[in-house]
Amino acid sequence: MKIICIGRNYTDHIAELNNERPEHPVVFMKPDTAILLKKHPFIIPEFSNDVHHEVEVLVKINRLGKHIDRKFAHKYYDEIGLGIDFTARDLQAQLKVKGLPWEKAKSFDGAAVIGTFLPKSDFADVNTLDFRLENNGKVVQKGNTALMLWKIDALIEYISKYFTLKIGDVIFTGTPSGVAKIQPNDMLTGFLEEKQLFSIKVK
Ligand code: ZN
Repeated sequence: MKIICIGRNYTDHIAELNNERPEHPVVFMKPDTAILLKKHPFIIPEFSNDVHHEVEVLVKINRLGKHIDRKFAHKYYDEIGLGIDFTARDLQAQLKVKGLPWEKAKSFDGAAVIGTFLPKSDFADVNTLDFRLENNGKVVQKGNTALMLWKIDALIEYISKYFTLKIGDVIFTGTPSGVAKIQPNDMLTGFLEEKQLFSIKVK
């Protein structure tokens, strides 16, 4: 399986990092080795002093597809989840300045938290989902999928122009504002609507 991530999909997050609003979705990938193993803590890697949490709504692909029209995109997923795109912000900043790829900052081992998936039929509309991240019980990021610049179906259309989507692939749909540095002993808990989908200890 592969993990396809979208950057800069929420205006408030674009503003907090002083990024430009993109003309097209920003796309990058994480290998399957980036998935944080179930029940494991996230260990801050020694190569970064500034790892940020980015909470994101996830979409799990359930059908093989390429060049998917957005009208039919809803047929390619039936589960929605929540995860964290851990980002070594210091490393990413160095790579961005040089115009280099972001993989070392975003695709290292453990950098993808994938929480429990729920059937999309549990929700009235995937385009109005509230989600939030709590750190030690305090809300640090809050978003709603209505605020995405590119909604889920538009992302599937766009991504599938370049990459064949396969069963089990996961799309990280971008983070809202509130990204921040994590510290040892943080406990990161993610909620989609009122359902808790992951809880990760930081070491
Ligand atoms: Zn992200």
